[in-house]
Amino acid sequence: ALHGSAKEDILESLYDQFTVDDQCLFKITQTFLSEISDGLSSYGRPMAMIPTFVKGVPDGSETGTFLALDLGGTNLRVCEVTLLGDKTFSLRQQKYKVSEALKTGEVTTLFDYLADSVDAFLTDTPSGGHDSHVSHAEEDSPYVPLALTFSFPVEQSALDSGVLLTWTKGFSAKNAIGKDVVKLLQDAFDRKHIHVKCVALVNDTVGALLSRAYTSGGCILGAIFGTGTNGAYVEEVSKITKLGQNPVAAGGEMIVNTEWGAFNNSRSALPTTPYDNKLDRESINPRFQAFEKFISGMYLGEIARNVILSLIDAAPKPVLFGGRSSALLNKQWGLDSAVLSEIEEAWEGLGRFSAPEQGSPEAQKEEKLRRIQGVLAQRLELSPPDISLEDADIVRKVCNVLGTRAARMSGTAVAAILVHTGRARLWDHGEQSSAGLKDEGKRIGVGVDGSLVEFYPNFQTKLRASLRALVGPEVESRVDIGMAKDGSGVGAALCALVAQRQN
Ligand code: ADP
Repeated sequence: ALHGSAKEDILESLYDQFTVDDQCLFKITQTFLSEISDGLSSYGRPMAMIPTFVKGVPDGSETGTFLALDLGGTNLRVCEVTLLGDKTFSLRQQKYKVSEALKTGEVTTLFDYLADSVDAFLTDTPSGGHDSHVSHAEEDSPYVPLALTFSFPVEQSALDSGVLLTWTKGFSAKNAIGKDVVKLLQDAFDRKHIHVKCVALVNDTVGALLSRAYTSGGCILGAIFGTGTNGAYVEEVSKITKLGQNPVAAGGEMIVNTEWGAFNNSRSALPTTPYDNKLDRESINPRFQAFEKFISGMYLGEIARNVILSLIDAAPKPVLFGGRSSALLNKQWGLDSAVLSEIEEAWEGLGRFSAPEQGSPEAQKEEKLRRIQGVLAQRLELSPPDISLEDADIVRKVCNVLGTRAARMSGTAVAAILVHTGRARLWDHGEQSSAGLKDEGKRIGVGVDGSLVEFYPNFQTKLRASLRALVGPEVESRVDIGMAKDGSGVGAALCALVAQRQN
C-alpha cells in the first residue's frame, strides 16, 4: 500500500529519470564519436555527415549584396544582406508564416509560396538605403542571385544542388523526398516568371558557422538549438572518406553538416524515459531524429506537457492542480517550450521578472512561486484556484530538470566535435595536458543560434558545465561560444559569394 510520502516518491523517481549524470554524458559522447566516423565513411547512415561543398571559412573581409531565402523552422524569411567587408553587415528582412497546410500539402504549393514570398519582398519592401541593393536584376544578368537556406537533411552534390533525404520538425510536404530542392525552387521562380536565380543551397548550421566566422574572424563549429538541433563543422577533406575519388576530395578543408539531430536513432546511449517514448510514438517521424527529441524547442514543451499530465493523473492521489487539467494541456503540442523558459525566468528573477523580491527568504520564495502561479494560469489556461504554491514549485522543478537535461545533452555534441577534430580529449578527471592537441592554447570559436540557446535561462551555462565535465576545464575555458545572429541570412550571402567566385 502507498504511504504518506507517495507524492515525494513519485516526484523523486521523476527527477531521477530525467537526470543525466557525467557517466551518461560520457557514454553519449563516445557513441557520438563512433557515429561521426561511421557517417564520414559511408552514405545512408543515421548521422548523415553531409559534405556541403563549402571549402574554408570567411575571415570578415568579404563584400557584396545578396538575397537569401530561409526555410527550416517556424518562419519563412526573405532577406537582403550586404557584407561590408569589415566583419559587419547590413540586412533587411521580411518574415512570412508557413501554415500547417503548406507544411503538409503538395511540395509544389510550398515552393510556389516561397517564390511568391521572394517576389513580394522584391516588389513591396523598400531597399535598405545602400547603393548596391539587389532589388532589380543587374544589367549584365537578367537574374537576381539568391541563396537558399534550407534546414532539412539534404544530400548535396554541389554548392547549388542537393536532394531532400527526409523531412523533420513537423514538415511532411508530399512528393519532395529525393527531389533536388534548388530545382524545385528554380522551377517555381520560372513558372512565375520571377527573375531570380538560386545559386547556392545552405544549411542553417553552415550559415551559423560562416556568419560567426565572418563577424568574429574564426569559427570551427556552427550549432543550432531552436525548433530542432544540428551542427556543422570544419573537417579535413581527407577524413571524408566516403567522397572517394570525387575531384572535390582533393585535399584542404570542407564544412560538414552533421545532421546530429538524428544521432543515435537506435537510442542505445540516450537516457530514454517513458515520456520520451510517448512523444516519439506520437510524433510524425517515430524512431527518427532521436537526439533532437530530447533537446530542441519543438519537443521540450511537449515532454513537459506529458510529465505534467502524468502528475495530474497520478494515483492514488493527484500530485498537481487537484487533479484538474485544461483544454490546452490536454492538446498535443499545446505547451510551447517558451513557457518553460518563462517559468524558469519567474523563478530566477530574469526577463520581465527582474524586479527584486522583498522581505525574508521565505517571503521571497513565495513571491517567486506566485509569479509562476500567474504564468501557469495565463499560459496553461488553468483555473487559478486549482494552482497551489506547491504546484508552482513542482512545475518549476519539472521545467528545470527538462531544461537541464537538454542543455547537458547539447554539451555532448559540442564535446564530440572538439574530440573528433583533435582539439580535445575525453577527460578522465586526471591531470590535464593539452600537449599535441590541435589549436593547443588557442581560442576555439563556436557560433550558435536558436531560441533555446538564446533565451532559455542558463542553457549556455549548463551546456558549458557539461562540456567541462567531458573535455576538462582547460579546453572548455578556451571555447568561445557566441551567437551567430542572422546566421541564416549572412551565411547564405557568404555562400552565394563562394558560388559566384567558383563561376
Ligand atoms: P527556428 O529554429 O525555427 O529557426 P527559433 O530558433 O526561433 O526558430 O526556434 C523556435 C522554437 O523555439 C520553437 O519550437 C519555440 O517553441 C521555441 N522557443 C521560442 N522562444 C523560446 C524561448 N524563449 N525559450 C525556449 N524556447 C523557445
